[in-house]
Amino acid sequence: MATTVGFIGVGNMGNPMAGNVLKGGFPFTVFDKSPKAMENLVQAGARAGKSAQDVVDSSEVVLTCLPASPDVEALYLEPGGLIERARPNTILIDLSSVLPSTPRKLEPAAKKRGVHFLEAPVSGGTAGAKAATLAIMVGGDPQILDRARPVLKCIGPNIFSVGPVGAGNTVKAINNMMACVNSLAMMEGLTLGVKAGLDPMVIYEVVKASSGGSKALERIPTAIVPRKFEPGFKVFLMNKDLDTFNTIAKELHVPVSFSNVAQRYQQAALAAGLGDMDTSVVATLIEKLAAVEFPKKG
Ligand code: NAD
Repeated sequence: MATTVGFIGVGNMGNPMAGNVLKGGFPFTVFDKSPKAMENLVQAGARAGKSAQDVVDSSEVVLTCLPASPDVEALYLEPGGLIERARPNTILIDLSSVLPSTPRKLEPAAKKRGVHFLEAPVSGGTAGAKAATLAIMVGGDPQILDRARPVLKCIGPNIFSVGPVGAGNTVKAINNMMACVNSLAMMEGLTLGVKAGLDPMVIYEVVKASSGGSKALERIPTAIVPRKFEPGFKVFLMNKDLDTFNTIAKELHVPVSFSNVAQRYQQAALAAGLGDMDTSVVATLIEKLAAVEFPKKG
């Protein structure tokens, strides 16, 4: 019999991932506290769970994708939460990006009840989630990962077993710090170029073919030039990931600088009320600082 799978938290990232697991042919139950978020999945054949508890009651593997540590800890650890409710041998997998201390609390609590837990933060953005090309950074027991692999393969081919729980979210925080710093370097370079009279798309094409290129460049044609800042990846989530990186750095006494600069820009965007916009919106703050406006193209 096919493994029964549940998915809790189907926002910008969870929704396309859940859609790809559903396409994998598993009997599938979905729940989000916002009913609207799960409408398309129910239309595509998922059963609408009445609650998170309903999902865990009807699933052998449960995936969760929530904003941050407090949401995840509440869902898993509160009385009547996922860990208390799950039957022994259930596999709970958290795909959210959280503090490494969160999975380190969840795994032993699950183990006490004979329940398995893996952390599996992902990278690749909403485009990667739609295309099922995500990188998945799994922390936890590799034997449990092998059991969960057929489900995880539906969301991405690059499944990395990176160590014990906590290791997955550590490498995820490193990745996002580097992505954010690349992105800010691109935005500052672009701003200077525009002020110097260059066409932003010329900068894009040239740097893409040169040594300064990175995935961050793709924000130029997809977000910055058309001024499309709907998420995507919200500013407040990027701020949270930089917080995670800086927390780990403090704990390990690693002097870091770039993450602090990157976080300052996310803080400025939060202060400007842009927390629910895509993190590309930071480019508009850099524009203002330089008293320049990127030319808008269709
Ligand atoms: P989002 O805010 O779009 O979605 C979160 C969803 O969780 C919402 O639909 C919300 O209603 C639901 N939710 C929250 N608490 C819940 C609960 N207790 N029960 C049921 N549903 C609940 O956020 P997102 O962009 O999908 O990000 C989710 C996680 O994935 C975050 O940790 C984020 O850092 C990570 N992530 C996001 C991206 C991206 O590009 N958006 C990429 C990689 C990783």
